[in-house]
Amino acid sequence: MSIVEAECLVASNPANGQEIRRIPVTPADEVPSRVERARTAQEAWGNLPWPKRREILRDWWRILSIEADNLAEGIRLEIGKPAGEAMGEVVSTLDALRWTVKNAGRVLADDRIKAGWQRWAMFGTVRLRWRPLGVLGVIGTWNYPIFLNAPLIAQALAAGNGVVWKPSELASHCGDLLQKTLEASGVPEGLVSAVQGGPEVGKALIDSRIDKACFTGGTEVGHRVLADLGGRGLPAIAELSGFDSAIVLPDAPLESTAKSLTWAAFVGCGQTCVAAKRVYVVGEASAWAEAFTDQTKALRVGDPGSPRVDVGPMISESARDRFDAQVQSAIQAGARVLNGAEFMPGPGWFYRPSVLLADNDAPEKALEGCFGPLLLLRALASAEEALQAANASRFGLSGSVWSQDVQAAQALAERLEAGMVCVNDAVIGSAHASAPFGGIKASGFGRVHGAIGLRELATPQAIHTRRSGGFRPQVFPYNDPMLKAMAFYRWMFHPRKRK
Ligand code: NAD
Repeated sequence: MSIVEAECLVASNPANGQEIRRIPVTPADEVPSRVERARTAQEAWGNLPWPKRREILRDWWRILSIEADNLAEGIRLEIGKPAGEAMGEVVSTLDALRWTVKNAGRVLADDRIKAGWQRWAMFGTVRLRWRPLGVLGVIGTWNYPIFLNAPLIAQALAAGNGVVWKPSELASHCGDLLQKTLEASGVPEGLVSAVQGGPEVGKALIDSRIDKACFTGGTEVGHRVLADLGGRGLPAIAELSGFDSAIVLPDAPLESTAKSLTWAAFVGCGQTCVAAKRVYVVGEASAWAEAFTDQTKALRVGDPGSPRVDVGPMISESARDRFDAQVQSAIQAGARVLNGAEFMPGPGWFYRPSVLLADNDAPEKALEGCFGPLLLLRALASAEEALQAANASRFGLSGSVWSQDVQAAQALAERLEAGMVCVNDAVIGSAHASAPFGGIKASGFGRVHGAIGLRELATPQAIHTRRSGGFRPQVFPYNDPMLKAMAFYRWMFHPRKRK
């Protein structure tokens, strides 16, 4: 994590409070000129043929791969993740880069839309091309400081854009490590620029001459940013808070399901946007309560500097205080504590992984959108009731359904109000390099990753062409033959009964 001190961000280790390094804050009034520099570089970049852009992206991918240990160590130190998790983030990033290098040319290749039957209405073939947007303003968060930024930057570049990005002020060291890999690659100077700082630097980026924003962070801040962008008519991708549900059907195997869901709840110390927070079991709660309590008690919480740690610290003192206040309100609202719900001794911002049991919806209202190590368990009488409870939330990032009957689980999954749903799995799906990632409802809109994410970073341009010597409609003057032609087309476009 980092704090601002005398125009520097002080990056420190949340497990022990030790300073890692200081990173200069980018003055807010310097941000517009970074955007202009990226725009100048983008003009040439956007005109490069794909094989040339691909070569440079491949070079960046290679450097990221060489730097994998260094990046994972940065994540461990600054975000407080166990080494395996930190490397998992880097590996998912490499996979996303691989996907982009291999597939972007195909996904963004020109397409032809044939006129077909409309040829009768004098339409010709259209060339569809994917045009770069210009300069993308990316505002990042801290919990996956490499994975949430590098794949997006790679896709923006593949689509021919420039990027100015702001790493979270709580992940400035990781942001700097990532920017250095870009600078060590053949990516043209100024095309991708990192600006470091807090909300004021983010606001300066949003207020500058960007062409589209991609904001990842909390729903409250996100909505304020979207209001600013909307006032200027600018488009955005919004990757906002989650409060994910898991529906466990009665036939789900107890031990393995509890084990998977315990990981899904506490990965990244529960500070994972797609972590399972609300677990609805259909039927009796007691066996599940016992299984989750046992699994959670077995977790080894501590400084990820030690290799035998499953869960690290929370990112900061204020994040821990905010999270604890929500947990205590949930307890006041009637939740029973099965494990945790308390601070752990420092140094470092440790919080005991917590399992709460609720018998109504009051605790989940108190916990809405919380971001920390929590699993809230509630038993409901039927799958329909569990679905209603899951969908009652204003958030809709991801969710999961657990059952031996895969068809029944899939049918329920389709009705879950979430951008991503896993069956008999959770969290992992969000790292799938080809599948779109993003939420609905208060969790945002727009997608990153894969073909759908890539096309969000370009704009479709339809080019309608006629040969200059050939037939071209020349409609004026409006007269009787023209009215007759319209009557003919009206007859043609009338819906016919199918034979
Ligand atoms: P946050 O909303 O406080 O900050 C996010 C970013 O916005 C930071 O870089 C911050 O400096 C910047 N910012 C703050 N005010 C700004 C302003 N007025 N204009 C422009 N930028 C501004 O969130 P956070 O604490 O960094 O992240 C935690 C939240 O992010 C959680 O709610 C989590 O669920 C969510 N999250 C979502 C996803 C996703 O993909 N949907 C991924 C990770 C985290």
